[in-house]
Amino acid sequence: MINTIYVENEIKDYSRTLSILSKFKRSRIIYINKYSEIFNKKNQSFRLQKKDPLLILAKKNNNFVLKAPEGFGLGASKNYYFSHMYNCIYDCKYCFLQGLYSSANYLVFVNYEDFLNQINNLVIRNKGKSITFFSGYDCDSLAMEKVTSFADFFLKNYLENKKITYEFRTKSLQINPFLKNKPSENIIIAYSLLPGDLAQKFDIKAPAINLRIKSLKQLTSLGWKIGLRFDPLIYNNNWKISYKELISTILDEINTNYLHSVSFGSLRFPKQIFNTINNMYPGDELFSHDFKKKDNVYSYKGEIEKEMISYCKNIIHKKVKKDVHIFSCTPY
Ligand code: SF4
Repeated sequence: MINTIYVENEIKDYSRTLSILSKFKRSRIIYINKYSEIFNKKNQSFRLQKKDPLLILAKKNNNFVLKAPEGFGLGASKNYYFSHMYNCIYDCKYCFLQGLYSSANYLVFVNYEDFLNQINNLVIRNKGKSITFFSGYDCDSLAMEKVTSFADFFLKNYLENKKITYEFRTKSLQINPFLKNKPSENIIIAYSLLPGDLAQKFDIKAPAINLRIKSLKQLTSLGWKIGLRFDPLIYNNNWKISYKELISTILDEINTNYLHSVSFGSLRFPKQIFNTINNMYPGDELFSHDFKKKDNVYSYKGEIEKEMISYCKNIIHKKVKKDVHIFSCTPY
């Protein structure tokens, strides 16, 4: 339940705004001039707001699509990301959004058309080049779909082009837009995955792993391309057994003909974000192993990340066809 919704005056009559508001008949609605009045306020507590987040509906005016950070890619020559929303209804302990924003409120940008326009401009500007666009960087791309209908809009309006790939990264079971539409060669629905026992501890409020696998199975059975994202890989004493089991279960369940790619990334944080999140969970198991700092990034000390990535990659290599892209987001 969202008790309060802030709406920017400029978009108060947009049909999409009205449609979202119609889903919250009992909420208090407050009109504001700029979302930053609420979202960027000083002295906010992310953890406190997370208990009772409010919703902000706003218009984004620039930076609809941004260059993806180093290591974020599926092998295309250009990688970009876009976020129609900031923050998430889930509460993963390692989520970098907790360190990125001081507010845990949900901020939704309702001018979806402007995101698509900028994507189309980038495609024209980079004619002939392969490009991947990622949705789900500052949010989970599908978790709020029942409210936003963003994926539904996207599937009805996106530009089909052989060189272009779009990835929806998610942990959500809200796959209805994909069930209603015909599968597309260009679109990948990529699930972030952890062994079940680790997901229970760290993927707070996110759907259980067996349910995510069920969605993957359903999507491949309809011919949608999927991605498996083992990112972050989380270390514990039992990691070899649990990751082997997880990978085997997934590959047994899904139709691997529709497996587009598998990626691995170790648990890692930029320095500032590491400090903020570490302070939020003093003594938590997530930070109980030694971390090292290299180039302003914190990750597991020693050979752990290298060992985890090569172990999991080997299992995948043995089990999937050669044309599946397998890569790591860290250089191993
Ligand atoms: S699903 Fe992704 S965006 Fe949402 S809380 Fe977890 S890590 Fe953060």
